[in-house]
Amino acid sequence: MLQATMVEPGRIQFDEVPRPEAGVDEVVIEVKACGICGSDVHVWKGEHPFTSYPIIQGHEFSGVVDSVGTNVDSINPGAKVTIEPSLVCGTCHPCRHGRYNICDNLKVMGFQADGCHRNFFAVPQQKVVPLPPEISFEPGAMVEPAAVGVHAVKRSGLKAGGRVLVLGAGPIGILTMQAAKGMGASEVMITDVVNFRLETARRVGADYTVNVAEEDLFDSIKGAFGRDGLDVVIECVGSEQALETAIQVARKGSRIVVVGVVGGRPRLSLGLLQDRELEMIGSLMYMREDFELAIDLIRTGRINPVQLITRRFEFEHLPEAYREADERKGQNLKVMVIF
Ligand SMILES: [Zn+2]
Ligand SMILES: [Zn+2]
Repeated sequence: MLQATMVEPGRIQFDEVPRPEAGVDEVVIEVKACGICGSDVHVWKGEHPFTSYPIIQGHEFSGVVDSVGTNVDSINPGAKVTIEPSLVCGTCHPCRHGRYNICDNLKVMGFQADGCHRNFFAVPQQKVVPLPPEISFEPGAMVEPAAVGVHAVKRSGLKAGGRVLVLGAGPIGILTMQAAKGMGASEVMITDVVNFRLETARRVGADYTVNVAEEDLFDSIKGAFGRDGLDVVIECVGSEQALETAIQVARKGSRIVVVGVVGGRPRLSLGLLQDRELEMIGSLMYMREDFELAIDLIRTGRINPVQLITRRFEFEHLPEAYREADERKGQNLKVMVIF
C-alpha cells in the first residue's frame, strides 16, 4: 500500500509499505476520503508549534473496516466508519471527569501521532465511529470538523430560539453555524472578508452574512436583531481582531466561545469582560457524543457538509492538495483527498 509521510515542511514522501495488521484491540480501516484542514496547512508550512517531523498527517477521514483484532466484537469488516482522531490517557483529571477532549496527555493523529495518509490505517477500536448508510464517504470525512462545531455550540450554552453570531466563514465557522441552527438557534449571522465564503454560508443556512471589510458589524447586528442583540458569539477565526470584535459586540451578560486557534498574546479590552459581565470560554476538539450528534445533524440534512468541498485530489496528488489549500485559500473551503 501507499503511505505519505511529511518528512519536513513542504515535502511529502510516498513509500510502498506492507499493509498493517490489526492488533488485538485494533481495527484496520481502508481509507476512502480525507479532508485537508487549516492545521494541516500549518504543518505543511512548518508553522505548527506542536508537531515534529517526520509525521503522517490526515485526521478527518472516512473509510471501510478491512479487518479487526481478536478482542473486537462490535465492529465488523465492511462497515463504513470515521474515527475520533484523539489519543487520550484515561487517567488524568479531565479524563477521569468526562472531559477527555482536554486530556493532559492529548495526542492528535496527524500532529503528535501518525494519521491516515495511507491506504490502510490501524486504530484502537474505541476510536471507531460507525456511519449510517445515508452518509457517504465525503460527508463522512467531514464529521470530525462538524463535531468541532457541535462541541463549540454545546459550550456556548445556546438555548432554543437563541441568536448566534459566528465570526469567520471558513469550514469550521460554517459547520459551527449549521450546528447552531441544527441545535436550536432561531437565527445565525456569520462574518468573513471573503464574499465567496459568505455566499456558501448563506446557501447552507446562514440567515445573515456580513463582509466585515465592507460593512459595519454593529449596524448589521442592530438591523438584524434589534436592541436585544445576540445571545451567543462563537469566534472561529483565531485572530486578535476577531477576539476584540467578539468582546465589543457581545451583549452584556452573554457568552463568547473561542474556537479559533490564536497565536501570540493578543491585546484585548478585557476590562469589558468585568464591566459587562461577559463570559469568554474556550472550546477544544470534541467527545464521542459530539461526533454522534454531528452524524445525526448530517444524516438529517441540518448540516450539509458537501457544499463546502471546493476541490478534490487523488491521494497520489497529495502535495497539490496542500498547495491548493494553502495558496488559493480565498477560493477554497474544504479540499478533499480521495483514495
Ligand atoms: Zn481538522
Ligand atoms: Zn488524560
